[in-house]
Amino acid sequence: MTAKAKKVNLLGMSQGDLEQFLAARGEKPFHARQILQWIYQRAVDNFDEMTDLSKSLRAELKEGAEIVAPKVEERYDSKDGCIKWLFSSGSGQAVETVFIPEPNRGTLCISSQVGCALDCSFCATGAQGFNRNLTSAEIIGQVRHAIHELPRRSNGDPAVTNIVFMGMGEPLANYRNLIPVLELLVSDWSYGMSRRRVTVSTSGIVPHIDKLADDCNVALAVSLHAASDELRDQIVPINKLHPINSLLEACWKYAAKRSNRFITFEYVMLRGVNDSIAQANQLASLLKNRPAKVNLIPFNPFPGTRFKRSSAATIRHFQSRLRERGLIATTRKTRGEDINAACGQLAGKVSDRIKFRLSRKNIGHKINGDRDIRMSSA
Ligand code: SAH
Ligand code: SF4
Repeated sequence: MTAKAKKVNLLGMSQGDLEQFLAARGEKPFHARQILQWIYQRAVDNFDEMTDLSKSLRAELKEGAEIVAPKVEERYDSKDGCIKWLFSSGSGQAVETVFIPEPNRGTLCISSQVGCALDCSFCATGAQGFNRNLTSAEIIGQVRHAIHELPRRSNGDPAVTNIVFMGMGEPLANYRNLIPVLELLVSDWSYGMSRRRVTVSTSGIVPHIDKLADDCNVALAVSLHAASDELRDQIVPINKLHPINSLLEACWKYAAKRSNRFITFEYVMLRGVNDSIAQANQLASLLKNRPAKVNLIPFNPFPGTRFKRSSAATIRHFQSRLRERGLIATTRKTRGEDINAACGQLAGKVSDRIKFRLSRKNIGHKINGDRDIRMSSA
């Protein structure tokens, strides 16, 4: 007897790949649109329920394909309305997803990797190390679960109005699996979200910022956190490969391709490290007269960290100075602290960490596993 061929998971497959999958089986590619609607808009896992497909196509799909979503291990509800889910990624590993409700929107913060290799010194995920990239199915599966579990808003809109890639992992180090997810988020056949409501947050993998501008230019947030290379080298180690000048150059190019829509610069407020007025001035000089907004993030502590959060007064003064210098600056409200769901607190379960030195080759190949994308020194 021959071994049974492995079924293909259709969850996370882009429309183009689904069309190819159908064409390879002699089926009409347009059925991809129907299948996308069933998978994402109606959250159906079973081909028998796809009643507008012919019986023979359903049988063919049952034979060669499946729809497998990541399983929820745990759900935690915060006093302030935030919800955190722990999704199993197999072998005892798990990643976290957070829903943050606000009066006018509902933001879902999703993970892209099991852990993170980039080792920013103030981040719980970085402290956990890196295990592996999430698949596209595991990434879009977080969104699909939240959208279908959460009740709609009072105006009938889905609970989730915005997606941010600010959970565990560096999305641009998992580029190959990120792109199909972005396409599904914005496609009318699946979630049909506006590109402005989908934000990729990156610590600054410059060649992939350039590539993203061409492939799927959603909103971009950049974790700057320091206005000098000397300090950024210490707290965001990827800066040693892609220093501030090259990062900002990529940002302005990205913004220009999106009719100069603003880029958000995240800046975590670390007491005595990056929170002085001189540093606010330095930051303002870097971003002056550019399509930039600054979002200050009060540092969220986690076990074992050596950093402390800047005082509320320091954060206020820092923000005021940026505004006096003509920048748009806001401070992120800390949410979900009681369930360890605030920015930078997501640790999930990460074991069997892979250790390697930060280098262009490692970021481009080992982490991403994608040989098409080279981390050239550009
Ligand atoms: N890897 C991506 C996205 C995930 S982190 C990135 O670095 O941008 C999302 C945001 O939370 C980033 O701006 C990150 O720097 C910030 N962050 C990390 N640890 C934090 C902490 N302990 N307190 C507050 N913000 C933190
Ligand atoms: Fe990774 Fe982002 Fe955390 Fe840095 S801040 S370690 S890039 S998840």
